[in-house]
Amino acid sequence: MAKRDYYEVLGVSKGASQEEIKKAYRKLAIKYHPDKNPDDHTAEENFKEAAEAYEVLSDQQKRQRYDQFGHQGMNGGFGGGGGMNMEDIFSQFGDIFGGGGGFESFFGGAGRQGGGRRTRKGSNLRIKLKLNLEEVANGVEKKIKVKRYVACGTCGGNGAKNGTDMQTCNSCQGSGQVRKVVNTMLGQMVSTATCPTCNGEGRIVTKNCEACHGSGRELQEEVITINVPAGVMDGMQLSMSGKGNVPERGGVPGDLLIQIEEEPHPSLKRDGNNVIFDQYISFVDAALGADIEVPTIGGRVKITIKPGTQSGEIFRLRGKGVKDINGYGKGDQLIHINVWTPKSLSSEERAMLERLRVSDNFAPHPGKNEKGFFEKVKDYFQ
Ligand SMILES: [Zn+2]
Ligand SMILES: [Zn+2]
Repeated sequence: MAKRDYYEVLGVSKGASQEEIKKAYRKLAIKYHPDKNPDDHTAEENFKEAAEAYEVLSDQQKRQRYDQFGHQGMNGGFGGGGGMNMEDIFSQFGDIFGGGGGFESFFGGAGRQGGGRRTRKGSNLRIKLKLNLEEVANGVEKKIKVKRYVACGTCGGNGAKNGTDMQTCNSCQGSGQVRKVVNTMLGQMVSTATCPTCNGEGRIVTKNCEACHGSGRELQEEVITINVPAGVMDGMQLSMSGKGNVPERGGVPGDLLIQIEEEPHPSLKRDGNNVIFDQYISFVDAALGADIEVPTIGGRVKITIKPGTQSGEIFRLRGKGVKDINGYGKGDQLIHINVWTPKSLSSEERAMLERLRVSDNFAPHPGKNEKGFFEKVKDYFQ
């Protein structure tokens, strides 16, 4: 069955605001909710269809992609496969119906399971990493020093004196969550929210650890080894999970986010996976031919200029470029030949050249094989 247009599913216009989309979805979610339509397969399909449409249209990026490419643009997400499962759908509901936690009992177990403290995650750490072209081309292992919060060594991370001076939170009995009964148009719903007394931690420190003053963490300098894959680009972000800061009083550490900064090479220019080098040769070398050395990522390489080489010719050194980040081989180095015309001449040189001026060999005779600039560009960059 062909997929229906997401805007059509929600009954909104293409230009609908986020608020309109949310409202439309809320209406459909209530109308087709499985609890209200037991054993009604069509209602369930409509429910899922609306949830999928909302998932895409409520997300700025996904919506843009959908507007541009339609359903085909959504492959790789849930759109390409069998749609959303019920768990995904219910996890949207905190957003749709408000409330911190989401609803449980109303969904008769189909939704989230409540209870238990939420594991808190610490903040991410951001660093910039400068790489030169050689490092980018082949990948590199970098050791860098970072200062990050780690669990306090004295209290073990909970912030209590001796690691033991604390008690279970009375407001939530240690669960970290409190429940509220809310009356809605669908009847009573039980909503869960983070316990305000203990901030969701489930326990309260009665005496602070002296080493960390109750924060449960300490700043530590650490040397971290980063394996930078070949082919990264300027501005790209790598992430190492768990290498960020530990949150206060226990939890899982955030991530280390590494932003790549590519330092320009003095003579080689990167173009995707290729590397471009401009080589100037004298017109004597162009006419007589010469062996010259050019810089490459792996060091200097000798190339032979054939007699009769034209300005604008491009030499290709296969595999001397940047390794593809997805493992699709290596780029090439392209050497642009520029024939250098002297800007000043001695009287002796001038006299020699004047003799050559009349020679028929020095008059341009571009043949069929001499491609113009545009053909060359087409040949090498398609
Ligand atoms: Zn401590
Ligand atoms: Zn509590």
